[in-house]
Amino acid sequence: MGILGRLLDSLYITEDTCTNCGKTFEPSGQGFVCDECIGEIKPYHPLEYEEKPFIAGYRIFSLYEGVMKEVIKAIKFRRALPLVEVLAGRIRGHINEYLQEIEPQIITFVPVHFWRRWGRGFDQNEELLKSLKIPFLRVLERRKYARPLARYGKSERQKVVEDAFRVKEHFLDLVEGKRILVLDDLMTTGSTAQSVARTLLEVGADSVYFYFLAKEL
Ligand SMILES: [Zn+2]
Repeated sequence: MGILGRLLDSLYITEDTCTNCGKTFEPSGQGFVCDECIGEIKPYHPLEYEEKPFIAGYRIFSLYEGVMKEVIKAIKFRRALPLVEVLAGRIRGHINEYLQEIEPQIITFVPVHFWRRWGRGFDQNEELLKSLKIPFLRVLERRKYARPLARYGKSERQKVVEDAFRVKEHFLDLVEGKRILVLDDLMTTGSTAQSVARTLLEVGADSVYFYFLAKEL
């Protein structure tokens, strides 16, 4: 960790202070969020799921608030890899139920940008599938842009988002006619998921389902 990283650590958060309840605890492996708070993570059961274009169906484990928000933030921004394992333990039953219901033939995930993966050292969605011991394929890749999204005009930006993903060349035949489940950490408006689903349908997938860790409020 660089000097700036250490400085930020000393100023703000250390691993033994729970970012959710503020209590100091003895990290038993995961750090950042105490065991007591982790025990509060429970699946959320909405009465119904709003339909989304291109998406055959989806499940959301939780809302992006409280402990879940702290856990996801620690994984993504503090590189707290051990928390992935902890999270996997909490969602296992919920995701397995959905897998039994839809019986996907291919399971994959929404990949992060390559530079972000490089900076973080891992892709949280991929790590979660590994921790869950769910067999998956790395079917999708992000296209690389010359400029950050914010520098594109509004209509241009829409187009860029629509073309953000592609199916890797050597998976094109495999994807055809298949029922696919895609894992992603956060659902905001659902536009990223729709873009992924459309990309998969365009190359011949039969149907595309999603599993989100959390939904932004
Ligand atoms: Zn706590």
